[in-house]
Amino acid sequence: MTDEQLLRYSRHILLSEFGVEAQEKLLAASALVVGAGGLGSPAALYLAAAGVGTLTLADGDTVDLTNLQRQILHTTQSVGTPKAESGKAALARINPEVRVAAVSRRLAGEELDRLVAQATIVLDCSDNFETRHAINRACVRHRVPLVSGAALRFDGQVSVFDLRDRTSPCYHCLFPEDAEIEEMRCAVMGIFAPLTGIVGTIQAAEALKLVTGIGETLKGRLLIIDALSMEWRSVKLERDPACPVCSTSAATTACPSFPSAGA
Ligand SMILES: [Zn+2]
Repeated sequence: MTDEQLLRYSRHILLSEFGVEAQEKLLAASALVVGAGGLGSPAALYLAAAGVGTLTLADGDTVDLTNLQRQILHTTQSVGTPKAESGKAALARINPEVRVAAVSRRLAGEELDRLVAQATIVLDCSDNFETRHAINRACVRHRVPLVSGAALRFDGQVSVFDLRDRTSPCYHCLFPEDAEIEEMRCAVMGIFAPLTGIVGTIQAAEALKLVTGIGETLKGRLLIIDALSMEWRSVKLERDPACPVCSTSAATTACPSFPSAGA
């Protein structure tokens, strides 16, 4: 690290759990943030400020006036511009050292698969189940840890699906794709502005911990936040042994450098 980097990241380096070594892991890491909206905004801002070396910010939407109440990457001046480009400009102002790739398309198919395979960590900050399941499948396939967040009205949820550990559940274990889940989007439901900041910031914290290997993550737990009563609780998640996404591959391949908890 250069002298300037040692200064910029000094308050991380001062942490006994962190030090120069963890900061260097962040600089070498590549994070894929899917969605540059309410969750992706604080998540990407913290990842960039904290010095994650490479960020890919993907969003197919353009900035709308109704976004500005909570999507803090964007400004009044950026209304009408692609969110990924507006976000990239904001991240460059926070930390010009971070390499940011803006993808102004809704990620799917081969492109999503390729970007997940290249990433150290994936943050699902999207707003629809189709994308969430596609991200999960790619993360399971490539054994890339996934930090998943959701926020609606006053209710937030965060979890980590880390299939480097064969005992870990995946997103599909928790929310089966064929289940009758009514898609509720904040476009019609309303959302408490700082809740997206709380959830997105937790996603950034979990991502930084996963990359550096410090602390305990939300792997195998779902954190549930009620911002109206400000009650937080976490529930234990079990892997579904019949899950069509993670069961077969989980039984045959486990990362040798990441032994399961029971091993
Ligand atoms: Zn699963």
